[in-house]
Amino acid sequence: MESKKQKTARVKEIFEILDPLYTREKTALKYKTPFQLLISTILSAQCTDKQVNTVTKTLFQKYRSPADFLSAPISALEMDIRPTGFFRNKAKSIKGCCQGLVEEFGGEVPATMAELIKLPGVGRKTANCVLGAAFDVPGVVVDTHVKRLAVRLGLTENKRPDKIEMDLQKLLPEERWRRFSDILIYHGRAVCNARKADHGACAVFSLCPSNAI
Ligand code: SF4
Repeated sequence: MESKKQKTARVKEIFEILDPLYTREKTALKYKTPFQLLISTILSAQCTDKQVNTVTKTLFQKYRSPADFLSAPISALEMDIRPTGFFRNKAKSIKGCCQGLVEEFGGEVPATMAELIKLPGVGRKTANCVLGAAFDVPGVVVDTHVKRLAVRLGLTENKRPDKIEMDLQKLLPEERWRRFSDILIYHGRAVCNARKADHGACAVFSLCPSNAI
């Protein structure tokens, strides 16, 4: 069985091989303020960043503040965000989140995990995305790609995102947390995707316990 020390050394190698292969952009979502990033991140669930950017281009002209989202009828908001999918749930999350921002934080997006996850519709993944990209706060973002790759690479035995987040934090120095999540997301999209793990094209083939599956 692999010791913690061996696993940490393996993760370091994985990081150093994959890091130069992928863009350093923190997010492909287009935003001007932490608030816009928060809304975009909520919209990005089960939707491509490209599609979110198309929708938010006009959305952020119409809705400039949490109060704007709050005063709009929910049916109008649903129609405005419909192309991002799951629009009813997302409209509900945006409304709840904006209400929390207005009531608890004077309309400003807070810069801590503890405060962000108090907002309705905001989980640890969304909070980590916003904290990392808008405030440079270290964090591990566990989305569907990170979850899958952490398991395939043998870095966790957990299924719950919050547990996976803690497992990955223990294997890397804080300053690499955010970049490692980004790397896994890019690698998950490009090579090791849900339908097919393209072992032959994988730069970390020799470091992966799933390379024969
Ligand atoms: S070797 Fe295969 S399973 Fe492992 S990370 Fe690469 S593509 Fe994914």
